[in-house]
Amino acid sequence: MFGRSGYLAGKGPEGTGRDDERASRRSVFGYRRGRSRAERTYRLLFADHPRPMWVYDLDSLAFLDVNDAAIEHYGYSRAEFLTMTIADIRPDEDLEALRESVRNTALIDRSGPWRHRIHDGTLIEVEVTSHITTFDGRPARFVMVDDITARRVHEAELRRRALYDELTGLPNRTLLLDRLNRAIESTDGTSEVVAVLLLDLDRFKLVNNGHGHAVGDRLLQRIAVRLQEAVGPENSVGRIGSDEFVVVCEEMSTDAAALAAAARIEAALSEPFEVDGVEVFAPASIGVAVADSGTTGEELLRDALTALTQAKERGRARVEVYDVGMHSGAVSRLQTDRDLRHALDRDELRLHYQPEIDLRTGALVGAEALVRWAHPERGLVGPADFISVAEETGLIVPIGAWVLTEALRQLRGWQREGAGPPVVSVNVSVRQLGQPDFADEVRRAVEGAGIGPDALCIEITESSLLEARTIATLRRIHAMGVRLSLDDFGTGYSSLVYLRRFPLDFLKIDRQFVAGLSPQSQDTSIVSAMIDLAHALGLTVVAEGVETEEQAALLQELGCDLGQGYLWSPAVPAGELGDSISPTRR
Ligand code: C2E
Ligand code: CA
Ligand code: CA
Repeated sequence: MFGRSGYLAGKGPEGTGRDDERASRRSVFGYRRGRSRAERTYRLLFADHPRPMWVYDLDSLAFLDVNDAAIEHYGYSRAEFLTMTIADIRPDEDLEALRESVRNTALIDRSGPWRHRIHDGTLIEVEVTSHITTFDGRPARFVMVDDITARRVHEAELRRRALYDELTGLPNRTLLLDRLNRAIESTDGTSEVVAVLLLDLDRFKLVNNGHGHAVGDRLLQRIAVRLQEAVGPENSVGRIGSDEFVVVCEEMSTDAAALAAAARIEAALSEPFEVDGVEVFAPASIGVAVADSGTTGEELLRDALTALTQAKERGRARVEVYDVGMHSGAVSRLQTDRDLRHALDRDELRLHYQPEIDLRTGALVGAEALVRWAHPERGLVGPADFISVAEETGLIVPIGAWVLTEALRQLRGWQREGAGPPVVSVNVSVRQLGQPDFADEVRRAVEGAGIGPDALCIEITESSLLEARTIATLRRIHAMGVRLSLDDFGTGYSSLVYLRRFPLDFLKIDRQFVAGLSPQSQDTSIVSAMIDLAHALGLTVVAEGVETEEQAALLQELGCDLGQGYLWSPAVPAGELGDSISPTRR
Protein backbone atom coordinates (compact mmCIF):
# COMPACT_ATOMS: atom_id res chain seq x y z
CA MET A 1 0.00 0.00 0.00
CA PHE A 2 2.83 2.37 0.68
CA GLY A 3 5.67 1.42 -1.57
CA ARG A 4 8.18 3.98 -0.50
CA SER A 5 10.44 2.89 2.26
CA GLY A 6 11.47 5.18 5.07
CA TYR A 7 8.08 6.21 6.36
CA LEU A 8 8.13 3.69 9.05
CA ALA A 9 11.65 4.49 10.06
CA GLY A 10 10.18 7.60 11.55
CA LYS A 11 12.75 9.91 10.08
CA GLY A 12 10.51 12.56 8.53
CA PRO A 13 10.41 11.28 4.95
CA GLU A 14 10.89 13.75 2.17
CA GLY A 15 7.88 15.03 0.37
CA THR A 16 5.67 15.30 3.42
CA GLY A 17 6.84 18.72 4.63
CA ARG A 18 4.07 21.26 4.54
CA ASP A 19 3.82 24.61 6.08
CA ASP A 20 1.06 25.96 8.25
CA GLU A 21 -0.22 28.20 5.55
CA ARG A 22 -0.70 25.38 3.06
CA ALA A 23 -2.31 23.15 5.63
CA SER A 24 -4.81 25.72 6.66
CA ARG A 25 -6.06 26.20 3.13
CA ARG A 26 -8.30 23.23 3.29
CA SER A 27 -10.11 21.63 6.17
CA VAL A 28 -10.74 18.00 6.76
CA PHE A 29 -14.23 18.50 5.54
CA GLY A 30 -13.11 19.74 2.21
CA TYR A 31 -14.30 23.27 2.82
CA ARG A 32 -12.08 26.19 2.46
CA ARG A 33 -11.59 27.81 5.79
CA GLY A 34 -13.11 31.15 6.50
CA ARG A 35 -16.57 30.39 5.15
CA SER A 36 -19.07 30.90 7.88
CA ARG A 37 -21.32 27.82 7.93
CA ALA A 38 -18.70 25.38 6.87
CA GLU A 39 -16.35 27.06 9.26
CA ARG A 40 -18.76 26.50 12.15
CA THR A 41 -19.20 22.84 11.33
CA TYR A 42 -15.48 22.45 10.96
CA ARG A 43 -14.80 24.08 14.31
CA LEU A 44 -17.46 22.05 16.06
CA LEU A 45 -16.57 18.63 14.69
CA PHE A 46 -12.84 18.92 14.29
CA ALA A 47 -10.90 22.05 15.18
CA ASP A 48 -12.45 22.68 18.58
CA HIS A 49 -13.22 19.08 19.42
CA PRO A 50 -11.79 18.18 22.86
CA ARG A 51 -10.36 14.89 21.57
CA PRO A 52 -7.13 14.87 19.58
CA MET A 53 -7.88 14.25 15.93
CA TRP A 54 -5.96 14.20 12.70
CA VAL A 55 -5.98 13.08 9.12
CA TYR A 56 -3.07 11.30 7.54
CA ASP A 57 -2.18 10.33 4.05
CA LEU A 58 -2.83 6.61 3.64
CA ASP A 59 0.00 6.39 1.17
CA SER A 60 2.80 8.47 2.71
CA LEU A 61 1.47 8.31 6.31
CA ALA A 62 2.12 12.03 6.58
CA PHE A 63 -0.12 14.12 8.81
CA LEU A 64 -2.37 16.21 6.60
CA ASP A 65 -4.26 18.08 9.28
CA VAL A 66 -4.42 18.07 13.07
CA ASN A 67 -6.78 19.79 15.52
CA ASP A 68 -5.88 21.99 18.50
CA ALA A 69 -6.53 19.21 21.01
CA ALA A 70 -3.89 17.08 19.26
CA ILE A 71 -1.42 19.95 19.34
CA GLU A 72 -2.06 20.56 23.01
CA HIS A 73 -2.11 16.92 23.97
CA TYR A 74 0.93 15.79 22.00
CA GLY A 75 3.00 18.96 22.45
CA TYR A 76 4.08 19.24 18.79
CA SER A 77 3.23 22.49 17.07
CA ARG A 78 1.00 22.37 14.02
CA ALA A 79 4.04 23.03 11.85
CA GLU A 80 5.94 20.16 13.47
CA PHE A 81 3.04 17.80 13.07
CA LEU A 82 2.80 18.57 9.41
CA THR A 83 6.40 17.58 8.81
CA MET A 84 5.84 14.22 10.53
CA THR A 85 4.28 10.89 9.64
CA ILE A 86 2.29 8.81 12.04
CA ALA A 87 5.29 6.48 12.26
CA ASP A 88 7.09 9.29 14.07
CA ILE A 89 4.73 9.12 17.02
CA ARG A 90 4.93 5.38 17.36
CA PRO A 91 7.72 3.70 19.34
CA ASP A 92 10.03 1.69 17.06
CA GLU A 93 8.98 -1.66 18.43
CA ASP A 94 5.36 -0.91 17.45
CA LEU A 95 6.10 -0.28 13.79
CA GLU A 96 5.28 -3.81 12.70
CA ALA A 97 1.86 -3.47 14.30
CA LEU A 98 1.47 -0.13 12.58
CA ARG A 99 2.18 -1.71 9.19
CA GLU A 100 -0.55 -4.21 9.93
CA SER A 101 -3.04 -1.58 10.93
CA VAL A 102 -2.36 0.58 7.94
CA ARG A 103 -3.05 -2.36 5.67
CA ASN A 104 -6.41 -2.65 7.35
CA THR A 105 -8.89 -1.33 4.85
CA ALA A 106 -11.94 -1.36 7.08
CA LEU A 107 -13.88 1.81 6.57
CA ILE A 108 -14.42 2.40 10.23
CA ASP A 109 -12.01 0.96 12.68
CA ARG A 110 -11.64 1.03 16.42
CA SER A 111 -8.33 -0.19 17.66
CA GLY A 112 -5.87 -0.08 20.49
CA PRO A 113 -4.42 0.16 22.89
CA TRP A 114 -1.52 1.73 20.99
CA ARG A 115 1.37 3.65 22.30
CA HIS A 116 2.08 7.15 21.04
CA ARG A 117 5.14 9.20 21.70
CA ILE A 118 4.39 12.78 22.68
CA HIS A 119 6.76 15.72 22.26
CA ASP A 120 8.65 15.29 25.54
CA GLY A 121 9.38 11.66 24.68
CA THR A 122 6.82 10.16 27.05
CA LEU A 123 4.72 7.30 25.80
CA ILE A 124 0.98 7.51 26.28
CA GLU A 125 -1.55 4.78 25.72
CA VAL A 126 -4.40 5.44 23.36
CA GLU A 127 -7.36 3.89 21.67
CA VAL A 128 -8.25 5.22 18.25
CA THR A 129 -11.37 5.39 16.15
CA SER A 130 -10.66 5.96 12.50
CA HIS A 131 -12.25 5.86 9.12
CA ILE A 132 -11.10 6.07 5.54
CA THR A 133 -11.77 9.32 3.80
CA THR A 134 -10.24 11.49 1.12
CA PHE A 135 -8.30 14.65 1.62
CA ASP A 136 -7.58 16.89 -1.29
CA GLY A 137 -8.60 13.96 -3.45
CA ARG A 138 -6.08 11.56 -1.88
CA PRO A 139 -6.90 8.47 0.15
CA ALA A 140 -6.54 9.37 3.80
CA ARG A 141 -7.51 8.16 7.23
CA PHE A 142 -9.30 10.27 9.75
CA VAL A 143 -8.32 9.48 13.34
CA MET A 144 -9.84 10.36 16.68
CA VAL A 145 -7.70 9.59 19.72
CA ASP A 146 -8.81 8.57 23.19
CA ASP A 147 -5.94 8.85 25.69
CA ILE A 148 -6.42 5.97 28.11
CA THR A 149 -3.12 6.37 29.99
CA ALA A 150 -4.77 7.64 33.17
CA ARG A 151 -7.35 4.90 33.03
CA ARG A 152 -4.67 2.25 32.52
CA VAL A 153 -2.65 3.60 35.44
CA HIS A 154 -5.78 3.55 37.53
CA GLU A 155 -6.58 -0.01 36.46
CA ALA A 156 -3.05 -1.11 37.24
CA GLU A 157 -3.35 0.54 40.63
CA LEU A 158 -6.61 -1.29 41.29
CA ARG A 159 -4.99 -4.57 40.26
CA ARG A 160 -2.06 -3.82 42.54
CA ARG A 161 -4.36 -3.07 45.44
CA ALA A 162 -6.30 -6.24 44.89
CA LEU A 163 -3.11 -8.27 45.13
CA TYR A 164 -0.74 -6.38 47.40
CA ASP A 165 -0.85 -5.21 50.96
CA GLU A 166 -0.97 -1.44 51.10
CA LEU A 167 1.24 -1.02 54.16
CA THR A 168 4.14 -3.33 53.41
CA GLY A 169 3.85 -3.76 49.66
CA LEU A 170 3.94 -7.53 50.18
CA PRO A 171 1.60 -9.88 48.30
CA ASN A 172 -1.75 -10.24 50.07
CA ARG A 173 -3.63 -13.43 50.75
CA THR A 174 -5.09 -13.62 47.23
CA LEU A 175 -1.76 -13.32 45.44
CA LEU A 176 -0.02 -15.51 47.96
CA LEU A 177 -2.53 -18.31 47.58
CA ASP A 178 -2.13 -18.06 43.83
CA ARG A 179 1.65 -18.35 44.11
CA LEU A 180 1.29 -21.16 46.59
CA ASN A 181 -1.00 -23.14 44.31
CA ARG A 182 1.34 -22.59 41.37
CA ALA A 183 4.30 -23.67 43.45
CA ILE A 184 2.49 -26.83 44.50
CA GLU A 185 1.56 -27.58 40.89
CA SER A 186 5.10 -27.08 39.70
CA THR A 187 6.43 -29.65 42.16
CA ASP A 188 4.00 -32.27 40.84
CA GLY A 189 5.94 -35.34 39.87
CA THR A 190 9.22 -34.03 41.27
CA SER A 191 10.82 -34.87 44.58
CA GLU A 192 10.49 -31.28 45.68
CA VAL A 193 7.89 -30.09 48.14
CA VAL A 194 6.48 -26.72 49.06
CA ALA A 195 6.47 -25.56 52.66
CA VAL A 196 4.41 -22.79 54.18
CA LEU A 197 5.50 -20.86 57.23
CA LEU A 198 2.72 -18.94 58.94
CA LEU A 199 4.00 -16.39 61.35
CA ASP A 200 2.10 -14.39 63.94
CA LEU A 201 3.66 -11.71 66.12
CA ASP A 202 3.27 -12.54 69.78
CA ARG A 203 2.77 -9.08 71.12
CA PHE A 204 1.87 -6.75 68.30
CA LYS A 205 -1.24 -5.50 70.09
CA LEU A 206 0.96 -4.41 72.96
CA VAL A 207 3.19 -2.44 70.61
CA ASN A 208 0.13 -0.76 69.11
CA ASN A 209 -1.37 0.02 72.50
CA GLY A 210 1.88 1.03 74.11
CA HIS A 211 3.58 3.02 71.37
CA GLY A 212 0.73 3.93 69.06
CA HIS A 213 -0.39 2.71 65.66
CA ALA A 214 2.16 4.73 63.73
CA VAL A 215 4.98 2.83 65.42
CA GLY A 216 3.04 -0.40 64.93
CA ASP A 217 2.72 0.28 61.20
CA ARG A 218 6.39 1.08 60.78
CA LEU A 219 7.31 -2.02 62.75
CA LEU A 220 5.29 -4.13 60.32
CA GLN A 221 7.13 -2.51 57.40
CA ARG A 222 10.50 -3.28 58.98
CA ILE A 223 9.46 -6.83 59.71
CA ALA A 224 8.39 -7.28 56.09
CA VAL A 225 11.88 -6.25 54.96
CA ARG A 226 13.66 -8.48 57.47
CA LEU A 227 11.52 -11.48 56.59
CA GLN A 228 12.27 -11.12 52.91
CA GLU A 229 15.99 -10.78 53.66
CA ALA A 230 15.89 -13.81 55.93
CA VAL A 231 14.29 -16.13 53.39
CA GLY A 232 15.85 -14.75 50.24
CA PRO A 233 14.33 -13.56 46.99
CA GLU A 234 13.55 -17.09 45.80
CA ASN A 235 10.82 -17.43 48.45
CA SER A 236 7.63 -15.39 48.63
CA VAL A 237 6.72 -13.41 51.71
CA GLY A 238 3.18 -12.12 52.13
CA ARG A 239 1.07 -10.39 54.73
CA ILE A 240 -2.34 -11.94 55.26
CA GLY A 241 -3.56 -10.37 58.48
CA SER A 242 -2.73 -7.42 60.69
CA ASP A 243 0.27 -9.15 62.24
CA GLU A 244 0.27 -12.38 60.27
CA PHE A 245 2.87 -13.06 57.63
CA VAL A 246 3.30 -16.05 55.36
CA VAL A 247 6.43 -17.40 53.73
CA VAL A 248 6.10 -19.79 50.82
CA CYS A 249 9.26 -21.86 50.52
CA GLU A 250 9.59 -23.51 47.16
CA GLU A 251 12.00 -26.22 46.18
CA MET A 252 12.41 -27.51 49.68
CA SER A 253 13.41 -31.09 49.95
CA THR A 254 12.59 -31.85 53.58
CA ASP A 255 10.82 -30.69 56.71
CA ALA A 256 14.28 -29.99 58.05
CA ALA A 257 14.87 -27.38 55.35
CA ALA A 258 11.57 -25.72 56.25
CA LEU A 259 12.59 -25.71 59.90
CA ALA A 260 15.92 -24.18 58.98
CA ALA A 261 14.05 -21.37 57.21
CA ALA A 262 11.90 -20.91 60.32
CA ALA A 263 15.04 -20.74 62.43
CA ARG A 264 16.50 -18.05 60.16
CA ILE A 265 13.29 -16.06 60.58
CA GLU A 266 13.37 -16.43 64.35
CA ALA A 267 16.97 -15.30 64.41
CA ALA A 268 16.14 -12.32 62.21
CA LEU A 269 13.30 -11.28 64.51
CA SER A 270 15.25 -11.79 67.72
CA GLU A 271 17.18 -8.56 67.14
CA PRO A 272 15.21 -5.55 68.39
CA PHE A 273 13.78 -3.08 65.88
CA GLU A 274 14.40 0.59 66.29
CA VAL A 275 11.26 2.46 65.31
CA ASP A 276 11.12 6.24 65.80
CA GLY A 277 13.79 6.02 68.45
CA VAL A 278 11.89 3.32 70.33
CA GLU A 279 13.43 -0.12 70.69
CA VAL A 280 10.76 -2.70 69.95
CA PHE A 281 10.98 -6.47 70.15
CA ALA A 282 8.83 -8.51 67.81
CA PRO A 283 8.96 -12.15 68.85
CA ALA A 284 6.77 -14.39 66.72
CA SER A 285 5.23 -17.83 66.78
CA ILE A 286 5.56 -19.87 63.62
CA GLY A 287 3.47 -22.73 62.27
CA VAL A 288 5.02 -24.83 59.51
CA ALA A 289 3.19 -27.10 57.07
CA VAL A 290 4.74 -29.09 54.26
CA ALA A 291 2.65 -30.01 51.20
CA ASP A 292 1.59 -33.60 50.69
CA SER A 293 0.67 -34.69 47.21
CA GLY A 294 -2.76 -33.41 46.36
CA THR A 295 -2.79 -30.68 49.00
CA THR A 296 -4.23 -27.34 47.93
CA GLY A 297 -2.82 -24.00 48.98
CA GLU A 298 -5.84 -23.37 51.19
CA GLU A 299 -5.39 -26.67 52.98
CA LEU A 300 -1.70 -26.03 53.49
CA LEU A 301 -2.42 -22.62 55.01
CA ARG A 302 -5.03 -24.15 57.28
CA ASP A 303 -2.57 -26.78 58.47
CA ALA A 304 0.05 -24.11 59.10
CA LEU A 305 -2.54 -22.22 61.16
CA THR A 306 -3.22 -25.32 63.24
CA ALA A 307 0.52 -25.64 63.91
CA LEU A 308 0.69 -21.93 64.71
CA THR A 309 -2.13 -22.23 67.24
CA GLN A 310 -0.21 -25.00 68.90
CA ALA A 311 2.97 -22.89 68.98
CA LYS A 312 0.98 -20.14 70.71
CA GLU A 313 -0.43 -22.55 73.24
CA ARG A 314 2.91 -24.02 74.04
CA GLY A 315 4.19 -20.69 75.18
CA ARG A 316 4.68 -18.55 72.05
CA ALA A 317 7.91 -17.45 70.44
CA ARG A 318 8.37 -20.96 69.06
CA VAL A 319 8.02 -23.06 65.94
CA GLU A 320 5.69 -26.02 65.49
CA VAL A 321 5.41 -28.27 62.46
CA TYR A 322 1.98 -29.50 61.48
CA ASP A 323 1.22 -33.16 61.82
CA VAL A 324 -2.05 -34.95 61.26
CA GLY A 325 -2.65 -35.41 64.98
CA MET A 326 -2.93 -31.65 65.37
CA HIS A 327 -5.99 -31.50 63.22
CA SER A 328 -7.85 -33.81 65.57
CA GLY A 329 -6.51 -31.53 68.32
CA ALA A 330 -8.20 -28.58 66.62
CA VAL A 331 -11.43 -30.54 66.32
CA SER A 332 -11.32 -31.51 69.96
CA ARG A 333 -10.84 -27.84 70.90
CA LEU A 334 -14.15 -27.13 69.24
CA GLN A 335 -15.71 -29.96 71.17
CA THR A 336 -14.12 -28.64 74.36
CA ASP A 337 -15.59 -25.21 73.77
CA ARG A 338 -19.05 -26.68 73.28
CA ASP A 339 -18.86 -28.83 76.40
CA LEU A 340 -17.32 -26.07 78.47
CA ARG A 341 -20.29 -23.83 77.80
CA HIS A 342 -22.43 -26.36 79.65
CA ALA A 343 -19.90 -27.02 82.39
CA LEU A 344 -20.82 -23.84 84.25
CA ASP A 345 -24.58 -24.44 84.09
CA ARG A 346 -24.17 -28.06 85.10
CA ASP A 347 -21.92 -27.17 87.98
CA GLU A 348 -19.03 -29.29 86.71
CA LEU A 349 -16.18 -27.01 87.77
CA ARG A 350 -14.21 -27.71 90.95
CA LEU A 351 -11.51 -25.87 92.83
CA HIS A 352 -8.46 -27.57 94.25
CA TYR A 353 -6.07 -25.81 96.57
CA GLN A 354 -2.31 -25.98 96.77
CA PRO A 355 -0.61 -24.82 99.97
CA GLU A 356 1.93 -22.01 100.07
CA ILE A 357 4.51 -22.53 102.76
CA ASP A 358 6.80 -20.18 104.67
CA LEU A 359 10.24 -21.58 103.82
CA ARG A 360 11.73 -20.56 107.18
CA THR A 361 9.00 -21.76 109.54
CA GLY A 362 7.18 -24.32 107.42
CA ALA A 363 3.88 -22.62 108.26
CA LEU A 364 0.90 -22.70 105.90
CA VAL A 365 0.58 -19.07 104.83
CA GLY A 366 -1.80 -19.36 101.91
CA ALA A 367 -3.37 -21.57 99.26
CA GLU A 368 -3.68 -21.16 95.50
CA ALA A 369 -7.06 -22.04 94.03
CA LEU A 370 -6.63 -24.10 90.84
CA VAL A 371 -9.63 -24.95 88.74
CA ARG A 372 -10.55 -28.45 87.52
CA TRP A 373 -13.37 -29.69 85.38
CA ALA A 374 -15.26 -32.74 86.54
CA HIS A 375 -16.13 -33.89 83.01
CA PRO A 376 -18.93 -36.49 82.93
CA GLU A 377 -16.98 -38.72 80.50
CA ARG A 378 -13.37 -37.60 80.64
CA GLY A 379 -13.12 -37.48 84.42
CA LEU A 380 -11.21 -34.70 86.19
CA VAL A 381 -9.75 -32.47 83.48
CA GLY A 382 -6.82 -30.17 84.31
CA PRO A 383 -6.77 -26.46 83.39
CA ALA A 384 -4.07 -27.04 80.77
CA ASP A 385 -6.74 -28.79 78.68
CA PHE A 386 -9.39 -26.10 78.76
CA ILE A 387 -8.14 -22.71 80.02
CA SER A 388 -6.56 -21.72 76.70
CA VAL A 389 -9.78 -22.59 74.84
CA ALA A 390 -11.77 -20.61 77.41
CA GLU A 391 -9.41 -17.66 76.98
CA GLU A 392 -9.80 -17.77 73.23
CA THR A 393 -13.57 -17.87 73.32
CA GLY A 394 -13.97 -15.44 76.22
CA LEU A 395 -15.58 -18.13 78.37
CA ILE A 396 -12.77 -17.47 80.84
CA VAL A 397 -14.71 -14.41 82.02
CA PRO A 398 -17.69 -16.28 83.55
CA ILE A 399 -15.41 -19.16 84.58
CA GLY A 400 -13.07 -16.72 86.34
CA ALA A 401 -16.01 -15.05 88.06
CA TRP A 402 -17.12 -18.42 89.36
CA VAL A 403 -13.60 -19.25 90.57
CA LEU A 404 -13.35 -15.96 92.46
CA THR A 405 -16.71 -16.36 94.21
CA GLU A 406 -16.12 -20.03 95.00
CA ALA A 407 -12.60 -19.47 96.38
CA LEU A 408 -13.84 -16.66 98.65
CA ARG A 409 -16.79 -18.76 99.81
CA GLN A 410 -14.35 -21.53 100.72
CA LEU A 411 -12.07 -19.09 102.53
CA ARG A 412 -15.00 -17.78 104.55
CA GLY A 413 -15.85 -21.39 105.44
CA TRP A 414 -12.30 -22.04 106.68
CA GLN A 415 -12.35 -18.84 108.70
CA ARG A 416 -15.58 -19.90 110.40
CA GLU A 417 -14.03 -23.23 111.31
CA GLY A 418 -10.86 -21.49 112.43
CA ALA A 419 -8.90 -23.70 110.06
CA GLY A 420 -7.22 -23.55 106.65
CA PRO A 421 -4.92 -20.96 105.13
CA PRO A 422 -5.26 -17.28 106.03
CA VAL A 423 -5.00 -16.16 102.41
CA VAL A 424 -6.35 -17.59 99.17
CA SER A 425 -4.77 -16.85 95.78
CA VAL A 426 -6.85 -16.77 92.63
CA ASN A 427 -5.52 -16.80 89.07
CA VAL A 428 -6.95 -14.08 86.85
CA SER A 429 -6.46 -14.06 83.09
CA VAL A 430 -5.70 -11.04 80.90
CA ARG A 431 -9.16 -11.35 79.39
CA GLN A 432 -10.78 -10.86 82.81
CA LEU A 433 -8.57 -7.92 83.70
CA GLY A 434 -9.56 -6.30 80.44
CA GLN A 435 -13.22 -6.20 81.50
CA PRO A 436 -14.02 -2.58 82.34
CA ASP A 437 -15.89 -3.51 85.55
CA PHE A 438 -13.42 -6.08 86.83
CA ALA A 439 -12.38 -4.03 89.88
CA ASP A 440 -16.05 -3.68 90.85
CA GLU A 441 -16.54 -7.40 90.43
CA VAL A 442 -13.68 -8.03 92.86
CA ARG A 443 -15.10 -5.55 95.35
CA ARG A 444 -18.54 -7.17 95.21
CA ALA A 445 -17.04 -10.64 95.62
CA VAL A 446 -14.97 -9.62 98.65
CA GLU A 447 -17.89 -7.80 100.28
CA GLY A 448 -20.30 -10.60 99.42
CA ALA A 449 -18.06 -13.20 101.06
CA GLY A 450 -17.62 -11.08 104.17
CA ILE A 451 -13.85 -11.50 104.33
CA GLY A 452 -11.12 -8.88 104.69
CA PRO A 453 -9.71 -7.76 101.32
CA ASP A 454 -6.17 -8.64 102.40
CA ALA A 455 -7.18 -12.30 102.63
CA LEU A 456 -7.46 -12.34 98.84
CA CYS A 457 -4.46 -12.42 96.54
CA ILE A 458 -4.91 -12.08 92.81
CA GLU A 459 -2.32 -13.74 90.55
CA ILE A 460 -1.69 -12.13 87.22
CA THR A 461 0.82 -12.95 84.50
CA GLU A 462 3.41 -10.69 82.96
CA SER A 463 1.37 -10.35 79.78
CA SER A 464 -1.32 -8.56 81.82
CA LEU A 465 1.16 -5.85 82.73
CA LEU A 466 1.80 -5.10 79.09
CA GLU A 467 -1.83 -4.20 78.43
CA ALA A 468 -2.01 -0.47 79.06
CA ARG A 469 -5.56 -0.34 80.38
CA THR A 470 -5.07 -3.01 83.02
CA ILE A 471 -2.80 -0.76 85.06
CA ALA A 472 -5.72 1.39 86.23
CA THR A 473 -7.73 -1.72 87.13
CA LEU A 474 -4.81 -3.17 89.10
CA ARG A 475 -4.35 0.10 91.00
CA ARG A 476 -8.03 0.14 91.97
CA ILE A 477 -7.93 -3.45 93.17
CA HIS A 478 -4.76 -2.83 95.13
CA ALA A 479 -6.22 0.30 96.70
CA MET A 480 -9.02 -1.85 98.16
CA GLY A 481 -6.41 -3.80 100.09
CA VAL A 482 -6.41 -6.89 97.88
CA ARG A 483 -2.90 -8.34 97.31
CA LEU A 484 -1.40 -8.72 93.86
CA SER A 485 1.02 -11.42 92.80
CA LEU A 486 2.99 -11.67 89.57
CA ASP A 487 2.79 -15.29 88.40
CA ASP A 488 5.20 -17.33 86.27
CA PHE A 489 7.89 -14.71 86.60
CA GLY A 490 10.76 -15.12 84.16
CA THR A 491 8.72 -16.59 81.32
CA GLY A 492 7.42 -13.30 79.98
CA TYR A 493 9.00 -10.13 78.77
CA SER A 494 8.85 -7.70 81.63
CA SER A 495 11.99 -6.60 83.39
CA LEU A 496 12.16 -6.14 87.12
CA VAL A 497 12.73 -2.43 86.70
CA TYR A 498 9.48 -2.19 84.77
CA LEU A 499 7.69 -3.85 87.69
CA ARG A 500 8.19 -0.75 89.82
CA ARG A 501 5.27 0.87 88.01
CA PHE A 502 2.84 -1.76 89.26
CA PRO A 503 1.32 -2.16 92.72
CA LEU A 504 2.58 -5.69 93.35
CA ASP A 505 3.07 -7.58 96.62
CA PHE A 506 4.33 -11.00 95.53
CA LEU A 507 6.49 -12.36 92.80
CA LYS A 508 6.22 -16.03 91.86
CA ILE A 509 9.33 -17.44 90.26
CA ASP A 510 8.31 -19.80 87.49
CA ARG A 511 8.85 -23.48 88.18
CA GLN A 512 11.16 -23.97 85.22
CA PHE A 513 13.83 -21.95 87.08
CA VAL A 514 13.19 -23.86 90.27
CA ALA A 515 13.54 -27.16 88.38
CA GLY A 516 16.98 -26.06 87.24
CA LEU A 517 18.25 -25.30 90.74
CA SER A 518 21.41 -27.04 91.83
CA PRO A 519 24.33 -25.51 93.71
CA GLN A 520 26.36 -24.35 90.68
CA SER A 521 23.77 -24.08 87.93
CA GLN A 522 23.12 -20.99 85.89
CA ASP A 523 19.49 -21.09 87.00
CA THR A 524 20.68 -20.69 90.55
CA SER A 525 22.33 -17.39 89.75
CA ILE A 526 19.25 -16.26 87.85
CA VAL A 527 16.96 -17.17 90.76
CA SER A 528 19.33 -15.48 93.17
CA ALA A 529 19.26 -12.28 91.12
CA MET A 530 15.47 -12.42 90.85
CA ILE A 531 15.13 -12.76 94.62
CA ASP A 532 17.51 -9.88 95.38
CA LEU A 533 15.89 -7.52 92.91
CA ALA A 534 12.37 -8.46 94.03
CA HIS A 535 13.37 -7.74 97.61
CA ALA A 536 14.87 -4.43 96.57
CA LEU A 537 11.44 -3.60 95.13
CA GLY A 538 9.77 -4.63 98.39
CA LEU A 539 8.15 -7.80 97.01
CA THR A 540 7.70 -11.11 98.79
CA VAL A 541 9.13 -13.96 96.69
CA VAL A 542 7.34 -17.27 96.14
CA ALA A 543 9.06 -20.20 94.43
CA GLU A 544 6.73 -22.42 92.41
CA GLY A 545 7.12 -26.10 91.64
CA VAL A 546 9.37 -27.00 94.56
CA GLU A 547 9.69 -30.76 94.40
CA THR A 548 12.75 -31.67 96.45
CA GLU A 549 14.25 -30.93 99.84
CA GLU A 550 17.43 -29.73 98.10
CA GLN A 551 15.51 -27.14 96.11
CA ALA A 552 13.71 -25.95 99.24
CA ALA A 553 16.99 -25.66 101.16
CA LEU A 554 18.75 -23.82 98.35
CA LEU A 555 15.83 -21.42 97.95
CA GLN A 556 15.83 -20.66 101.63
CA GLU A 557 19.57 -20.03 101.47
CA LEU A 558 19.05 -17.62 98.57
CA GLY A 559 16.56 -15.70 100.73
CA CYS A 560 13.34 -16.83 99.02
CA ASP A 561 10.35 -16.26 101.32
CA LEU A 562 7.66 -18.76 100.34
CA GLY A 563 7.46 -22.04 98.48
CA GLN A 564 4.78 -24.05 96.73
CA GLY A 565 5.08 -27.47 95.15
CA TYR A 566 4.72 -31.23 95.26
CA LEU A 567 7.29 -31.35 98.07
CA TRP A 568 4.53 -30.21 100.39
CA SER A 569 1.43 -31.08 98.42
CA PRO A 570 -0.18 -31.06 95.00
CA ALA A 571 -3.43 -29.13 94.63
CA VAL A 572 -6.14 -31.02 96.54
CA PRO A 573 -9.84 -30.61 97.37
CA ALA A 574 -10.48 -28.06 100.13
CA GLY A 575 -11.23 -30.69 102.75
CA GLU A 576 -7.84 -32.40 102.32
CA LEU A 577 -5.68 -29.30 102.43
CA GLY A 578 -4.47 -29.46 106.03
CA ASP A 579 -3.89 -33.24 105.95
CA SER A 580 -1.85 -33.19 102.81
CA ILE A 581 1.03 -31.03 104.00
CA SER A 582 3.95 -33.27 104.66
CA PRO A 583 4.67 -33.13 108.40
CA THR A 584 8.45 -33.05 107.89
CA ARG A 585 8.27 -29.61 106.35
CA ARG A 586 5.60 -28.21 108.62
P1 C2E B 1 -0.07 -21.80 87.66
O1 C2E B 1 -0.85 -20.63 88.09
O2 C2E B 1 1.38 -21.62 87.43
O3 C2E B 1 -0.36 -22.96 88.70
C1 C2E B 1 0.60 -23.81 89.18
C2 C2E B 1 0.57 -25.07 88.43
O4 C2E B 1 1.72 -25.82 88.76
C3 C2E B 1 -0.61 -25.95 88.79
O5 C2E B 1 -0.98 -26.67 87.65
C4 C2E B 1 -0.01 -26.88 89.80
O6 C2E B 1 -0.70 -28.08 89.94
C5 C2E B 1 1.35 -27.10 89.22
N1 C2E B 1 2.30 -27.51 90.23
C6 C2E B 1 2.24 -27.25 91.54
N2 C2E B 1 3.30 -27.76 92.19
C7 C2E B 1 4.08 -28.37 91.26
C8 C2E B 1 5.33 -29.08 91.32
O7 C2E B 1 5.95 -29.27 92.34
N3 C2E B 1 5.83 -29.54 90.14
C9 C2E B 1 5.17 -29.33 88.97
N4 C2E B 1 5.71 -29.80 87.87
N5 C2E B 1 3.99 -28.68 88.88
C10 C2E B 1 3.45 -28.20 90.02
P2 C2E B 1 -2.46 -26.76 87.20
O8 C2E B 1 -3.38 -26.90 88.37
O9 C2E B 1 -2.49 -27.80 86.14
O10 C2E B 1 -2.71 -25.35 86.58
C11 C2E B 1 -2.08 -24.98 85.42
C12 C2E B 1 -2.32 -23.55 85.07
O11 C2E B 1 -3.69 -23.33 84.74
C13 C2E B 1 -2.05 -22.62 86.21
O12 C2E B 1 -0.68 -22.38 86.30
C14 C2E B 1 -2.80 -21.40 85.79
O13 C2E B 1 -2.06 -20.65 84.87
C15 C2E B 1 -3.99 -22.00 85.08
N6 C2E B 1 -5.15 -21.97 85.96
C16 C2E B 1 -5.50 -22.82 86.92
N7 C2E B 1 -6.64 -22.42 87.52
C17 C2E B 1 -7.00 -21.26 86.93
C18 C2E B 1 -8.07 -20.33 87.11
O14 C2E B 1 -8.94 -20.49 87.98
N8 C2E B 1 -8.10 -19.25 86.31
C19 C2E B 1 -7.14 -19.04 85.37
N9 C2E B 1 -7.21 -17.95 84.61
N10 C2E B 1 -6.12 -19.87 85.17
C20 C2E B 1 -6.04 -20.98 85.94
CA1 CA C 1 -0.84 -19.19 89.60
CA1 CA D 1 2.67 -20.07 88.14
